Amino acid sequence: MNEYDVIIVGGGPAGISCAYALGRAGIKTLIVDKKPKDKIGDKVCGDALHPHNYNEVHEWTGLPLPKEGDIKEHIDFALLETATPDSALKIPDKTTTVDRLSYGQTLLNATLELDTVDLLPKFKLLEVIVEENTVKGLRGLTKDGEVELRSKVVMDASGAQAVVRARLPESMCTKFPRKIPMEEILVAYREIIRTKEEHNYQKGIYLIYDPSMEDVMPGYYWIFSRGPKELNVGLGYFKRPENRGKDIRKMNDDITKKYFSDYEVLDSRGASIPARLPLYSLVHNGFITAGDAGALVNPLNGEGHGPALQSGAKAGLFLVEALKKGDVSERGLWDYNKYIWGEYGVKHAIGIGIIKFIDKEHFEGFDFLIRERIISQADVEKELGKPDAKPTSWPYKMMKMMKRPNVIKALWKTYRLQAKVQKLAKNYPDTPDQFDKWYAKIRKIEETKF
Ligand SMILES: Cc1cc2nc3c(=O)[nH]c(=O)nc-3n(C[C@H](O)[C@H](O)[C@H](O)COP(=O)(O)OP(=O)(O)OC[C@H]3O[C@@H](n4cnc5c(N)ncnc54)[C@H](O)[C@@H]3O)c2cc1C
Repeated sequence: MNEYDVIIVGGGPAGISCAYALGRAGIKTLIVDKKPKDKIGDKVCGDALHPHNYNEVHEWTGLPLPKEGDIKEHIDFALLETATPDSALKIPDKTTTVDRLSYGQTLLNATLELDTVDLLPKFKLLEVIVEENTVKGLRGLTKDGEVELRSKVVMDASGAQAVVRARLPESMCTKFPRKIPMEEILVAYREIIRTKEEHNYQKGIYLIYDPSMEDVMPGYYWIFSRGPKELNVGLGYFKRPENRGKDIRKMNDDITKKYFSDYEVLDSRGASIPARLPLYSLVHNGFITAGDAGALVNPLNGEGHGPALQSGAKAGLFLVEALKKGDVSERGLWDYNKYIWGEYGVKHAIGIGIIKFIDKEHFEGFDFLIRERIISQADVEKELGKPDAKPTSWPYKMMKMMKRPNVIKALWKTYRLQAKVQKLAKNYPDTPDQFDKWYAKIRKIEETKF
């Protein structure tokens, strides 16, 4: 009774989209989650989710689209604001904000309608069963006592805590870290607030580089609209030693009060986000991971909901093939790594470069680029293909940049680092035995000092 093809730890977006892909293919799947059933989906989040993420997963697997009530607001634009508000960059961005619990429940209920998918809620993970260098199942506590669950594959979709990976024996963690270093984790805090009057941020998501956050840069404060009188406001920054002891809640409060005077707080919570390149490998014998547990959050903006949905669905689709072939070894699951690095390695390279740039040139250096219109609204519009956009001319940009040769140097290094990581991401090794050489190269680039 306790034997499955796949056990998924975590019923968040990564776990559910994987379970759906597996369930539709008739694979016997069990989702275990520490939460009670009616709380699965609830998650501290900024709530922004791009429709292309759920539309693509729907195309790949049939996972239902959000119901109207799951979407809080259809967003039209993102606004990037630095210390100089009149040089803010407005980017057309058709996205959404969602009610995480409501959407999570929609997905969970649709998944549990599939005959081959079961759920074990309120599950307390005690141990990951490993035999002969292969993950074979879990031991845990349920309301009926201790259980042993066996499977061909265990998927870690438990979010930032990555509870399965963290319990693997050290000997299995040679291609991925058992625990992600603190310096690569963001602490993030958000409040959902209701304003007395209709607010002025409707249809928008605002990313604000507030000068009061200078000490904790790279980081940002956000205001995301959730309807005419509701907003999600919050901020995040790295858990670096110099940021220890900072009061994130107070920082959020102080900034929020600059923008809003009459509001009530409906919910306030914080959580961690991995912000780095994807895990160097996301598979082992009988093991696969996706979403936050695989470090698939965009390190630049903390966007992880869409990547969790997509990576979970892809993990499911790769697992279906591997199970059909009867090979769920590291080698049998390896192509999933190639997919992940081709997608997220390439995207995260941009963020990793920008983080290094801000570390070197600080908030001021970044603000300088916007303030002096070296990166201007017209540049953004040109990039987005607007025919009548007139980007700032290169002679003008060069003249401005001459004032700050260090910024030019750091920008060049940023570009080079991004290009090198992207090249390696696109050339992820074809087989596990080619991994070590690739890994040495990527680590060398990551350790580059600006
Ligand atoms: C403050 C904040 C703001 C954010 N804003 C945005 C945003 O605006 N847009 C965006 O795209 N992303 C945002 N993110 C990131 C986004 O929330 C995550 O990337 C996304 O939820 C990851 O999905 P997941 O399925 O990997 O993990 P999760 O959503 O964390 O789901 C993990 C599941 O595993 C379960 N679980 C955990 N531990 C155990 C255990 N021991 N045993 C069993 N089950 C367990 C949990 O109960 C949960 O159901 C934000 C994150 C934070 C913290």
